[in-house]
Amino acid sequence: MKVFKFGGASASTIERIKHLPGIIKLFSGEKILIVISAMGKATNALEKVADAFYDNRKEDALQLFNVVKQNHITTAKYLLVRNYNETEKDLSAIFTEAEWLLHDKPVRNYDYYYDQIVCVGELLSTTILSAYLNEVKIANKWVDVRDIFRTDDNFRDASIDWNYTEKKVNEIIYPLFTEFDIVVTQGFIGSTDENESTTLGREGSDYSAAVFANMLNAESETIWKDVEGVMNADPKQFPDAQFISELNYNEVIEMAYYGAQVIHPKTIKPLQNKGIPLFVKCFLDAALPGTVIHQKGIKHLPPIIVLKQNQALMHLQSKDFSFVGEKLTAQLYNLFSEIKIKPNLIQSGAINLQVCIDDRPDKLDKLAAAASEIFDVQIEKGLTLLTIRHYDESTLTRLTEGKAIVLKQQSPETVQVLMKESLNH
Ligand code: ASP
Ligand code: MG
Repeated sequence: MKVFKFGGASASTIERIKHLPGIIKLFSGEKILIVISAMGKATNALEKVADAFYDNRKEDALQLFNVVKQNHITTAKYLLVRNYNETEKDLSAIFTEAEWLLHDKPVRNYDYYYDQIVCVGELLSTTILSAYLNEVKIANKWVDVRDIFRTDDNFRDASIDWNYTEKKVNEIIYPLFTEFDIVVTQGFIGSTDENESTTLGREGSDYSAAVFANMLNAESETIWKDVEGVMNADPKQFPDAQFISELNYNEVIEMAYYGAQVIHPKTIKPLQNKGIPLFVKCFLDAALPGTVIHQKGIKHLPPIIVLKQNQALMHLQSKDFSFVGEKLTAQLYNLFSEIKIKPNLIQSGAINLQVCIDDRPDKLDKLAAAASEIFDVQIEKGLTLLTIRHYDESTLTRLTEGKAIVLKQQSPETVQVLMKESLNH
């Protein structure tokens, strides 16, 4: 059994979608669970629908939703001939449910509505792609993952109820494979015990696929992307980024921790726990070897570069010149956990602490207000955080030359430099 995950980029255009059957046919005779994200930028578009709805801009919400709807109908019409009418019914049911909600007035919190609206993206994409695969004679079964993935009601960042979900995988998914080689389902979404839809955090489909791989004891998970594999830097920021053919779980967890947008940070644990390798491959050219991520120790890695823009540095100083110590530090960490902030860098001194976080106004203001009860607070904005793992002096110099450095932290493995404005390279 294998688990495949196709991201939004692989379902963003008709031309790209047409690569899928070829890839699946390379594995004919094998059992494959396929997790598919929303098409292209559908999740972003649905977020705008949720925003408009929550702002009580009902007409805007319906109009924005209609654009999403028309895009999916157009795609379905292009791809499907024999299966179109049947599929249109399935799509209509999904549209209607969302439209009902959009005709209401918001009475619950934003995150709840976000999940009810945004989950539509994966339901639509998988409905269309499952029908398309059937049409090109790749027999498959579509499954609503909300019948399988039970989560808590921490909307937008829901946690999976592992035992319940595993039971459903055994009861529902396993038996399907006696009849079908291919099962198609959604990533990123789940459901509470009250049948409310939930989402697992942006880009969460990699993680959903990893959970399935774990529970199905899959031989591997493959993430199909529009790039060659994992690179040592984001090619959009660094055109000379290098391809890496082999990584281990630890390295990928570290990369994700420092903000590399390679793989969803939660993805590794379910795979590592069962020693399941993760392949990152290019759906545009399946013959390319791609990257393998597994348990092995890997000796020679190039410098791995992560650049996070739009950072804020909070300078915190104890109010009466007393030492910062464990008490004040503990209070500060409590605030991080209450406000759900993940600091990107912390440096402490005798009477001060410096905390680098993403400049998200909602969170930053809350943190500043709460922290000012304990500390004198100053905020510096417009910063970029550079992290280099396995750094060498020449890379460090090249990327920091001429920059005003605000903060630097260094270990034998990793260097982090917080700098004013963005990099020129
Ligand atoms: N469609 C979701 C997103 O864009 C989940 C995913 O693609 O992994 O964040
Ligand atoms: Mg994606």
